[in-house]
Amino acid sequence: MSSMNVAETHSEAESQALTDGFHLVIDALKLNDINTIYGVPGIPITDLGRLAQVEGMRVISFRHEQHAGNAASIAGYLTQKPGICLTVSAPGFLNGLTALANATTNCFPMILISGSSEREIVDLQQGDYEEMDQLAIAKPLCKAAFRVLHAEDIGIGVARAIRAAVSGRPGGVYLDLPAKLFAQTMDSVAGQNSLVKVVDAAPRQLPAPESITRALNVLKSAKKPLIILGKGAAYAQVDQTIKDFVEKSGVPYLPMSMAKGLLPDDHPQSAGAARSLVLKEADVVMLIGARLNWLLSHGKGKTWGEPGAKKFIQVDIEPREMDSNVWIAAPVVGDIGSSLLEMNKAMGDKWAKPPVDWTNAIQERKDVNLAKMASKLMNNQVPMDFHSALGALRTIVKQRPDTILVNEGANTLDFARSIIDVYKPRKRLDVGTWGIMGIGMGAAIAAAVETGERVLAVEGDSAFGFSGMEIETICRYNLPVCIVVFNNNGIYRGTDVNPAGGADVAPTVFVKDSRYDLMMQAFSGVGAYVTSADELTQAVNEALDSGKPTLVNAIIDENAGTESGRIGNLNPQSVVTKK
Ligand code: ADP
Ligand code: MG
Repeated sequence: MSSMNVAETHSEAESQALTDGFHLVIDALKLNDINTIYGVPGIPITDLGRLAQVEGMRVISFRHEQHAGNAASIAGYLTQKPGICLTVSAPGFLNGLTALANATTNCFPMILISGSSEREIVDLQQGDYEEMDQLAIAKPLCKAAFRVLHAEDIGIGVARAIRAAVSGRPGGVYLDLPAKLFAQTMDSVAGQNSLVKVVDAAPRQLPAPESITRALNVLKSAKKPLIILGKGAAYAQVDQTIKDFVEKSGVPYLPMSMAKGLLPDDHPQSAGAARSLVLKEADVVMLIGARLNWLLSHGKGKTWGEPGAKKFIQVDIEPREMDSNVWIAAPVVGDIGSSLLEMNKAMGDKWAKPPVDWTNAIQERKDVNLAKMASKLMNNQVPMDFHSALGALRTIVKQRPDTILVNEGANTLDFARSIIDVYKPRKRLDVGTWGIMGIGMGAAIAAAVETGERVLAVEGDSAFGFSGMEIETICRYNLPVCIVVFNNNGIYRGTDVNPAGGADVAPTVFVKDSRYDLMMQAFSGVGAYVTSADELTQAVNEALDSGKPTLVNAIIDENAGTESGRIGNLNPQSVVTKK
């Protein structure tokens, strides 16, 4: 359908009291309070985007589907409503699918809606335009996948997708809408009646009372207890209940990276600056919305001290998460809000705080580590290193705690995670469970669109490259996003040379002194080039004051990074020398 006959079709349909697939999809989303679509237009969904805009939805068009998908997943994380990503068939679908799989891995609710080609031709493999059996491909990579063939089933299809995305452990859902569906018409009253407003899409899941008693008994027995808060706890939006529980228990806590700020990072019970000590020494560890995956060394090995010396309590909505890596002595299966509320009640007012030799030992280690770090943060040398640049950004975030921090890279990620304190819940968005590059601009755009807050995206130069073209999207929608590119001329470092001595440069280096700031200016955004911490501070403060789309090209010493940041152990290196 061409753009010219949108209005025509619309009025014609109204005069005959007809509706069609396009309008039913839009009405079904709106009925369920979903008012934003992230996507890339094209066949067969171009008119869906146009009509959605006509019907009052916010439609944010990207340059590549993966970033639209990442935006949708972050929208889901921030709002507890499934973020919608809309793509064309085959290649557009596949681009969006990466983000859908990532959303599922991270337990973010999202729905990927893709147009698809004609079933009859696809199934007989007769070579349709963008032919692909999208439903079959999506299925193993997401939480649920559905296809709607008839206009009267759109309401049910959308309802199932919403419920699947947000109930229980949240995740990604694929909704396949073949091109033919959009043009199908039906009586508009029957159409409205076919829509479904989902009641209680993510019902509370109350924990068994005996699981609460068991968990508190294990916690009470601890001499060196530790709480680990994960991004599931941040997602749950029960911030006060979590704070009450942590403070009532008096137990030191570690926030996983996206759980930073659930309690402010300068909270006296935070053990963030004594991470290795507490992981090694704790005798009881209580996981709240955090998984014992690679990010926590699977709960075993050197990081965790003596094998078998620890007991775990785990609060999670997903029963099958229990015992996934180590024995869980006290599983609490339920939603975090209901579970911690029960615990807060059962603990009463006389709950004994953990032994002071434990909390004192942690405080001592924190003091030493924080003093060590502080000395590196304040310097104005040229070029900057990671510490001096991040020291400047740390101060800015402290002064502007509502700013949403987006962070990706290798060294840029690792250092920023420990250096930049976060003061409020859901203010830090990063590479998540897979540790992937490429989430930056999608996350920044969704954060700005969904919250209206200022966004500060701290990006390694390599990480930025994965989604860099979306700066045009940021400028087009005039979003209050300030991107700081940590430019050290390459991946990990900028100093590698081609070991074979040929004309090509080493695979890990980029064009030296690249002017990422000029890219931003090309789209009428603000570009700044800075070489010292003072210049960086000034440029970022200006951006956050003005709210103008800004890219600050921050020149970092090209020798400063280390191989693979802090996860070099995961990157196999050859010891074989070939002659
Ligand atoms: P992190 O990477 O921060 O450790 P993970 O993504 O590994 O966090 O873990 C998040 C966990 O939170 C998942 O196991 C998920 O099932 C759980 N979860 C998500 N939402 C809720 C909720 N409302 N109540 C309980 N658990 C939840
Ligand atoms: Mg770099």
